[in-house]
Order: sequence, then C-alpha cells, then structure tokens
Amino acid sequence: MRKINNNEVIEALRSCLPYGVIGLHEPTFAGNEWKYVQECLDTGWVSSAGEFVGRFEKELAGFTGVKKAVAVVNGTSALHIALKLAGVQPNDEVLVPDLTFVATANAITYCGAIPHFVDSEEKTLGVDQNKLRIWLNQISKPRNGECFNSLTGRRIKALIVMHTFGHPVDLDPLLALCLEFDLELIEDAAESLGSYYKGSHTGNRGRLAILSFNGNKIVTTGGGGAILTNDEELAARAKHITTTAKVPHPWKYDHDQVGYNYRLPNINAALGCAQLEQLPDFLRRKRQLAECYRTAFELIEGIRFFCEPEFAKSNYWLNVLLLNEGNEKERDRLLELTAQNGIMTRPVWSLMHKLPMFKTYPCMEVNTAESIEARAINIPSSAFLGY
Ligand SMILES: *Cc1c(COP(=O)(O)O)cnc(C)c1O
Repeated sequence: MRKINNNEVIEALRSCLPYGVIGLHEPTFAGNEWKYVQECLDTGWVSSAGEFVGRFEKELAGFTGVKKAVAVVNGTSALHIALKLAGVQPNDEVLVPDLTFVATANAITYCGAIPHFVDSEEKTLGVDQNKLRIWLNQISKPRNGECFNSLTGRRIKALIVMHTFGHPVDLDPLLALCLEFDLELIEDAAESLGSYYKGSHTGNRGRLAILSFNGNKIVTTGGGGAILTNDEELAARAKHITTTAKVPHPWKYDHDQVGYNYRLPNINAALGCAQLEQLPDFLRRKRQLAECYRTAFELIEGIRFFCEPEFAKSNYWLNVLLLNEGNEKERDRLLELTAQNGIMTRPVWSLMHKLPMFKTYPCMEVNTAESIEARAINIPSSAFLGY
C-alpha cells in the first residue's frame, strides 16, 4: 500500500488555487444578472409569468439539444414531476443509485413509490450496469411487458441514473438494459449541465431528464430546476401540471386535475438567462482548473484525481480526489488538514440505504458505493478559480 504524504496533497491543491480561504463551490455573477433582475423589478414581472421564463426554457433546450425544457422551482420538484410523467405509481419501486444526493431518493417517495438502491462503478461513479443486470436477472420477473420484483411483489417501473459530480454515466448500456427489462430511464442531470456523453449533452438518452440551478450548481437561479424531454407531448403535460393544471383561458380559473405550483418565477429565470450567457466560460474555466489538479496530482502517491470517462466530456462540476484502497483511514485527517489550511473540502453524501428513512427499502449489495464513500474527497471547484 502506498502511503500518503499529507503535505504533498496540500501543496498540490495550493498550486492550483489563489492565496486565501477557498470555498468548495461558489457562484459567479459577472454578466447581466443585475440588469435582467432589475428589468423584472422595473416591469413588475417578478412571479411565475414573464418573458424570462420562456426565454430561459428555450435557451436551455438549445444548449442541451433536447426538444423541450420546462422550468420549475428546483431540481427536486423536477424529479417529482419527471417520475409522475414516467408513470411511477404509489407502491412501485424505482431503481436509484445508493450514491446520490438525497433529493433523488426523496422525489421517489413523493410519488408514494419506493426507492430501490443500486451500486455504482468506480469508472464513472454512476450506476454499474453489469452489476445491475446480474441483480435484475436474479430478482426480476417480467409480466405483461412490465418488470416485477420477485422478492417484494412490487412493480419496478423506472431507473434513475445520476451523472455524479458532472461525470456522465455509461448511458448506452443502461438504456439497453432498460429496454430489456421494461424500465423507464430518467436522467438526474442536476450536476451535469455542460457534460456530454458520446458527443450529445446529458439528458438526451432517457425519456425524461432533470437539471438543478441551486446556488452550488454549475449555473444558478438562486433556486430552480428544469424537466428536459424530447417528447413534445410529455413536455406539454409537464408544463400543465407544474402550473396548477390551469386550463388556458383569459380570465377563468379552471383546473382539470390536481396540479402543482412548481413554475419557476420570472425573477429567478432572469438570473438564469444571465448565467447561461456565461456558461461556456464557466465550462472552460472549470476544465482548466480540473486540468491543473490532474497534473498536480499525477505524481502523488496513494491518491488520484478523478478524470472523466473516455466516452465523456465532463463539466467537472465538483472535483473529486479518490484515496487508493487501503488509505480510507486518511480521509478524515485530510478533511481536517485542508480545512486548517483554508481549503474547503467535503466527503461525499452518506449512502442512501444508511439514512433512517430509507433503511428498510430494497438495496442490492453496494460494496463499490461503500468504497467510494470511504475514499472520496470533494475539493474546491468554483468556476472563477480557473483562468
Ligand atoms: C442538486 C441535486 C438535486 C436537487 O436539486 P435542488 O434544486 O437542490 O432541489 C437532485 N439530484 C442531484 C444529484 C443533485 O445534485
């Protein structure tokens, strides 16, 4: 086992960072943010109607290459609606990575459905299609073109994949697996705006995908999210149920089903339009910072900088160091040492199956996720840190 020299790690990080205290991920407002938000205030269009919302949606669709984007109040609500539109019903199971942010699993429970946790692979930090195939071959039973879990008797309706820290999962084999097992594929692309899989933007392979524009994401609207789809009819339904299912009419309040008040306010969309203008620059800077880290860590023993898989072009949203196996005990010491040196670092999320509210839900054997959790450290990644 190769030992880690902690001072070498600090030096490598510092060689890519400016002097002073460095946060993990901070937003940059260097463009038209003030101007566009002021326009909302001056015109009075601050809420869920107003021209920035439609413009933001069009620009999102244009950038990601999907037919339609529907802007909502956050990524979690986008997941909630995507799951509903994919046909997830109460008591269904939805396959979801054990290694994800809690919102992915929470949204499943909002539908009355049950998260079923699956393992990740170290190459992508996303769902391991080989292990999932073996698991489904073992536990699933097809019935009338649907997939059932023979252990629980429940229908398995969908698979959510997540592009961890912006690095695309290997989508094509996962899409093939979903076809084979009659599952809907939903992409949680909350972290992967600006990340490409085999030349196409993430969020294009699944029937539905979502983005998040929370304050720590690659672009921010304060809070916000979007549903992406190449299916025009699904997009129309997404828009309808996220706007209280109001039937369009000049003055009548008619609603044809239970809807949600999930529409992104104009003031947030204004921020988003200004942010999208800077996205190419953010991406360039983030890749430059990642390249600096990659070089700085090349010769350091016992730890490595995680790089995009060969089929992907990643946004490097949140950079990650992985300790070699056997060095797990060093993680907390490095987290402390970096903090003492003014460099903010974080471990990854606690695995979903360990959280009290999800403990009793189905979970395959997840030893790779466990290992990644024990060895990963997120390091400063703000776009302005790159040149
Ligand atoms: C941020 C995030 C979300 C949720 O987004 P919010 O806008 O904070 O609701 C969902 N999934 C993943 C993987 C995320 O990182």
